Amino acid sequence: MQEQSDFTFLDERFADIQLLRYQVPGFKELSLRQKLLIYHLSRAALLGRDILWDQNGAYNLQIRQVLEKIYTQYPGNRNSDEFLQFTIYLKRMWFSNGIHHHYGYQKFTPGFSEQFFVEAAKEVGLEVKHLVPILFDPSVLSKRVNQAEGDDLLLTSASNYYQDGITQAQAEAFYAKQKTEGDSKHPVMYGMNSRLEMHPDGTLYENVWRSGGLYGNHIDRIIAALQDAIRYAENKKQQAIIEKLIEFYQTGNLKTFDEYTILWVEDTESQVDFTNGFTEVYGDPLGLKASWEGYVNFIDPIATQRSQTLSDNAQWFEDHSPIDSRFRKKECRGVSAKVINAAILGGDLYPSSAIGINLPNSNWVRTEYGSKSVTIGNLAHAYDEAAKDNGLRKEFVIDDPTLSLLNKYASLCDDLHTDLHECLGHGSGQLLPGIDPDALKAYGSTIEEARADLFGLYYLADDKLVELGLTPNADAYKAQYYNYLMNGALTQLARIEKGNQIEEAHMRNRALITHWTLKNFPQAATLKEKGGKHYIQVHSYPMLRTAFATLLAEIQRIKSEGDLPAARELVEQFGVRVDPDLHTEVMLRYRALNLSPYKGFINPEYELVYDENGNISDVQIRYGETFEHQMLRYGKL
Ligand code: ZN
Repeated sequence: MQEQSDFTFLDERFADIQLLRYQVPGFKELSLRQKLLIYHLSRAALLGRDILWDQNGAYNLQIRQVLEKIYTQYPGNRNSDEFLQFTIYLKRMWFSNGIHHHYGYQKFTPGFSEQFFVEAAKEVGLEVKHLVPILFDPSVLSKRVNQAEGDDLLLTSASNYYQDGITQAQAEAFYAKQKTEGDSKHPVMYGMNSRLEMHPDGTLYENVWRSGGLYGNHIDRIIAALQDAIRYAENKKQQAIIEKLIEFYQTGNLKTFDEYTILWVEDTESQVDFTNGFTEVYGDPLGLKASWEGYVNFIDPIATQRSQTLSDNAQWFEDHSPIDSRFRKKECRGVSAKVINAAILGGDLYPSSAIGINLPNSNWVRTEYGSKSVTIGNLAHAYDEAAKDNGLRKEFVIDDPTLSLLNKYASLCDDLHTDLHECLGHGSGQLLPGIDPDALKAYGSTIEEARADLFGLYYLADDKLVELGLTPNADAYKAQYYNYLMNGALTQLARIEKGNQIEEAHMRNRALITHWTLKNFPQAATLKEKGGKHYIQVHSYPMLRTAFATLLAEIQRIKSEGDLPAARELVEQFGVRVDPDLHTEVMLRYRALNLSPYKGFINPEYELVYDENGNISDVQIRYGETFEHQMLRYGKL
């Protein structure tokens, strides 16, 4: 990891956006063949960007061209407020892949004047009068996706999936007919890969996104990159997947898409995986048309090894768990989780990206063939690392020694805690004979998450982890203990709206563990007030471990015996309620940090390395690119 010494996770901020860089751990350890596979799939993942821009709005590509030309060639004063505001607008547009907010869908209000826009365009040789209302009139194309009940959702949405003038009723009738005429048991994803358009006589037809069809030249370039990738496929199965995808891009046949999806779901052996194509339907108010996205990921061999080590030792952990022996599993097998890292993000997954992805979206394929669900480890890690630097810890951690403890170990221990939770925690313990697995009703999921979390907390402090080489020393766990209580008592309150209680099971479980511990083990930790602000103060870390062991034993008993009254009592007393004064205090401290509510990612760059004979000897990964440079480069791909 030598060359990452100057690596920084936090990058630029503007408007409500914070950009992060993510690292791709494990890439260097891959074989050259796998690196080349990733290299070509990554190219394919970037080549559909303009498809998405056009899907998001009919004028997006045109506006981007104009704005980028002004941005790169404007001869006037680049330090003027107008130009500064213009730059912010362009960056927001880059981030949202269009002129509407990526999350709220509302059209951006330019901070620069109409006059500046028209004159700056003129200075670089462009005439833009026709674009003025598109940018400046708030009533024109005001929302990308309108979901308000009672409105005609197509006429009031600015996204470009339906030709102007087609009404919601017309489109719905068109697709209702397709559905009744099609295979009802194995329906294809009707309408997924086309724009709905209208003949002059008023009849509707689909303009299909395929080679030779709409977006045909973009799709042909994606196909070419996929063909390059095939040569480096890891196995026959993966080769067949890529070939099937190419066939789908060539024909636009939705039955072929289902065949491709099934092949893709069934491949669980390849280390490198990807999606490339029309995938999620959030951008269509009718939920039919899929936006283009592409990404490439691979199993992180190091992190996967870590979870393998845990599951190999599952029986040891089960046998030493601080619970009643009646509740222990006699034979215990851990789950070995696959940790994946993203290698590139493209289309609708860039720059703003999900951290967990679950596909495919076809219901019958999911039922009959299953689905793939992944957590993208390196993106989650980038968020964690950014949290280190954004002032949150400095604000909420009680003193400098604790702060440096967290900065050193919190990220590592948090990953490890997640592994313990997922690989061992959920699978440990057993119900007594005859106990209904749903006996805890609505409290079941909170209790189950608490059980898995406590299992992880308890073992984080165990010498066994040092012995297995998973924690660097016998003090590292303290970072997670502190962090956990701080989150449970304080920082997670920032995610709850004023006046509300805690609803979500994971948040409830953290509150439960924290408040139970503070109440029953004040000799271990307390909430302390200092200058009008509250902090977690830990008095004894070993005593905290005893607290977690005690609560784990009780929670396991509740689960194993199906003790609903005790589950209700614990959750209602410790997991649900929010102290309104503390809530207000946390919100104010949080707001003062001025954190950006939305985050997105800058991709790494991949470059082929040649030896002296002109043969490819390696694929190099680089992280230094700025957002602006990346955006302008992607515009020329
Ligand atoms: Zn869980």
